[in-house]
Amino acid sequence: MAIIEVSNLKKSFGAAEVLKDISFNVNKNEVIAIIGPSGSGKSTMLRSLVQLEKIDGGSIAVDGDYLVKDGVYPSQQETKRITSRMGMVFQHFNLFPHLTVKENLELAPKIVKKEASEGLKNRTEELLGKIGLAGHVNSYPAKLSGGQKQRVAIARALMMDPAILLFDEPTSALDPELTGEVLQVMKKLAEEHMTMLVVTHEMGFAREVADRVIFMDNGEIIESGPPSEIFANPRNERTKAFLTRSF
Ligand code: ADP
Ligand code: MG
Repeated sequence: MAIIEVSNLKKSFGAAEVLKDISFNVNKNEVIAIIGPSGSGKSTMLRSLVQLEKIDGGSIAVDGDYLVKDGVYPSQQETKRITSRMGMVFQHFNLFPHLTVKENLELAPKIVKKEASEGLKNRTEELLGKIGLAGHVNSYPAKLSGGQKQRVAIARALMMDPAILLFDEPTSALDPELTGEVLQVMKKLAEEHMTMLVVTHEMGFAREVADRVIFMDNGEIIESGPPSEIFANPRNERTKAFLTRSF
């Protein structure tokens, strides 16, 4: 079953056609890694899925409901409802600096789902335990390392119980010695069959954890397949060139 169905997605910024005709599905429990050179449209694609960008044409369905159909969006209330099924983790964490870890985690469930503090307590504790930050419930983001901040951002996304998690280069802003702890949390989620779409330059992660790899270049999906095929046997010259460059 598809959690996300993208068909013929098009997006331009002015005269620049950034997403040309993107179609792909993400199936339930699948981990997809999106790789490709800088400027190929990876972030714009993820941002379009969570409504941070409006698309010009094509369709996006999430868990069977259209977020946008043939370029037409339903009511704002409906798009919000559908968007809230997706959790997003950004390169620069995007935690609220004036809120504690606990407050960061509980903000969206309180506002979007109107959940009460008391009911959220257990889930907050459970998720902080899961990412190894149980002792930081009342810390402010400034007190945390980059790796800890990103783990909090993952827990925050999980608080909404999303059908899918989207990651946009979650380790690219981290010092190399801190990437492992974040990738480890993501690997654990994959082992628990969380559905994930991960834009990454971590080829080791893509190779080891992803079920499928999508290579994008210049606003198009050039090729996709299981990591064993894409890494060992890329068919397209552009994929080959990119992979040679990355190693
Ligand atoms: P990637 O994430 O693969 O590096 P992006 O999706 O960030 O690629 O960018 C794709 C192209 O779209 C780039 O040429 C970038 O300069 C352009 N772009 C991205 N966001 C905007 C924007 N808000 N306004 C104008 N151009 C943009
Ligand atoms: Mg990007």
